[in-house]
Amino acid sequence: MSKSVILLSGGLDSLVALGYSKEEYGIELALTFDYGQKSVKKELEASKRICEYYKTEHRIIKLDWLKDITNTALVSDEDIPISNLGTLQSAKAVWVPNRNGLFLNIAASYADAFGYDYILFGANKDEGGTFSDNTEAFREKISEVFEFSTQKHPKVIAPLINYGKDDIVKIAVENSIPLELVRSCYNSGEKHCGVCESCRHLKKALIANHREDYINILFE
Ligand SMILES: [Zn+2]
Repeated sequence: MSKSVILLSGGLDSLVALGYSKEEYGIELALTFDYGQKSVKKELEASKRICEYYKTEHRIIKLDWLKDITNTALVSDEDIPISNLGTLQSAKAVWVPNRNGLFLNIAASYADAFGYDYILFGANKDEGGTFSDNTEAFREKISEVFEFSTQKHPKVIAPLINYGKDDIVKIAVENSIPLELVRSCYNSGEKHCGVCESCRHLKKALIANHREDYINILFE
């Protein structure tokens, strides 16, 4: 039986990656990162609820220094841009230096220390188009790096890498994954703002799957 660790932000992709792969990979631990992002409080609440639902151990990793060297709208006083969906400009505005590379390396330390065979994360086709750290090439290369930098040699798995957001919502619905627990918004409001890049993707995917009921629950 394998055992695994997952990166969990509480957003659509990581929630569905967990729900979809929990049994197959024996996911036991979820790591959520606090780097001072505007949405951190809500992400931590969502991640906690998701871990309770899936009976998964939850650890919060604080990365105060990452906030200090990040000046994108995710953490700065600047407003989160209103999205035009998937444009390079929207992507640049929310770039955090080496985020997935760093998070996966931290997860690899946990894997090396506690014997996890796999590290899962929610990379997907939509974000792969704009963010190079959401691509299959990145997943493959960083897995190779852990052959050298760890003794346990954990493999990195991205179960949703061939799927876009529409498919990911479809998978969630088909597998009874509790989408009401999701927190995908970049802003800090009580409910999803509906206009940031992440919200726009989620809303579009819910509409494509005729799940407007979730829009009423999740959005302002
Ligand atoms: Zn939003």
